[in-house]
Amino acid sequence: MHDISIIGAGISGLSSAIALKNFPLQIKIFEKNKTFSTLGAGIQLGPNGTRVLSSLGLLDSIIKKSSQPRRLNVFDIQKNKYLCGMKLGSNTVNKYGFPYLTILRSDLHSTLQKNLDKCKNVEVIRGFEMDGLEVLKDRISVIDKKGGNFDSRALIGSDGIHSIVRKLQFKNDSVGANQSTAYRTLIKNDCKSISKHSKDIKIWFGNAFHAITYPVGINNDINVVVVTKQIHHNDFGWSNPCHLNEFFSFFSPYPNSEITKLISVTSEWYKWPIFGCRPIKRTNEMTRGSIILLGDAAHYMKPHLAQGASMALEDSYQLLNFLKCSKFNKQIKWNNIFFDISKKRIRRIHAVQKKSIYNGYIFQWSGILRLLRNFLLRVFGESILDQKWLFKQLH
Ligand SMILES: Cc1cc2nc3c(=O)[nH]c(=O)nc-3n(C[C@H](O)[C@H](O)[C@H](O)COP(=O)(O)OP(=O)(O)OC[C@H]3O[C@@H](n4cnc5c(N)ncnc54)[C@H](O)[C@@H]3O)c2cc1C
Repeated sequence: MHDISIIGAGISGLSSAIALKNFPLQIKIFEKNKTFSTLGAGIQLGPNGTRVLSSLGLLDSIIKKSSQPRRLNVFDIQKNKYLCGMKLGSNTVNKYGFPYLTILRSDLHSTLQKNLDKCKNVEVIRGFEMDGLEVLKDRISVIDKKGGNFDSRALIGSDGIHSIVRKLQFKNDSVGANQSTAYRTLIKNDCKSISKHSKDIKIWFGNAFHAITYPVGINNDINVVVVTKQIHHNDFGWSNPCHLNEFFSFFSPYPNSEITKLISVTSEWYKWPIFGCRPIKRTNEMTRGSIILLGDAAHYMKPHLAQGASMALEDSYQLLNFLKCSKFNKQIKWNNIFFDISKKRIRRIHAVQKKSIYNGYIFQWSGILRLLRNFLLRVFGESILDQKWLFKQLH
């Protein structure tokens, strides 16, 4: 019997294993995909996320693969007007001690994976799709579709938004019905008109839609995400191919807008559904006995605060933190550690989930609410954009 089973080798599962690897523990990660997925595009890492990467010893290698946006700028697409902005880059480092980075998900993922490559006590078992769990007094048995099973003392469910661990062991479900659709593309930074977008994160507010662009990777290619209220499909995947025509009607009334011109340079797009989110409130929504849910499995959140990956990393940081504080021995009481982690995390996660939901509304307001929002942003600018409560420290 090994010590810990981790279900899912995504950002949460791999960073949890990195947090655990220096303790005398035997760890097995079970991942349903046979090969690493290069799917997905950009991920934003606020200074709260990069602080964790630093404590895991990964920040330098991540910086080498990331962009460091200079500013965050906000526009109203209807008037083609700049509303407000704030400095990022060295300003973020001076304020919070750590940078604001943007990176390809595949680069973040492969850096985490590489860090585990030489660890003798961590084994990644690929092509293992967990299908069942047997929870006994002293062990948890993980069962896959082919009937294979492995026993461990504790289990981390890092199996993402549609977590099977959550379905089997927890009554709550923070994931609601499909509410809107996000479209994304990656545009090569290969000419002057494109490279003018490559220094900043830009958010465009529209009526019932919004768009975000930011540079990713060392070439500063441009990651573009458009979110509309339309519900097209119920595909679960992150990368369903689609055509620009599916949502171009939102932009066509504003042909001279910078964002309309930018999205028109490519017709190759991918879409994914954005589900409703019910913010978690209680520790028993995250942990039960010697099982804990981490990352999206525990606290799926809407993408409008760009915190999904950073929250998964913060979970791993707390795992490391509580293990360091506990008197570590082989009889370790995982249920107590998992309870303490959940108790520490719950309020912060709840606040981040809520803010992500509100941003989704605010970004797409119309009529009088739109005018009020624009006025407040023009007057208070940076003090609204800067998320001090989120970036300042870890909880
Ligand atoms: C392919 C993919 C592309 C993505 N693209 C983007 C993107 O472009 N932008 C963005 O902001 N976010 C993206 N995300 C989501 C983002 O990575 C997560 O929101 C965030 O990093 C939290 O990570 P997580 O580890 O909790 O979940 P995930 O990164 O979703 O990882 C979950 C892992 O669990 C595995 N898994 C699921 N069920 C089982 C099972 N039954 N048995 C074994 N393994 C299982 C999955 O294969 C996956 O590897 C993507 C996620 C994936 C999986």
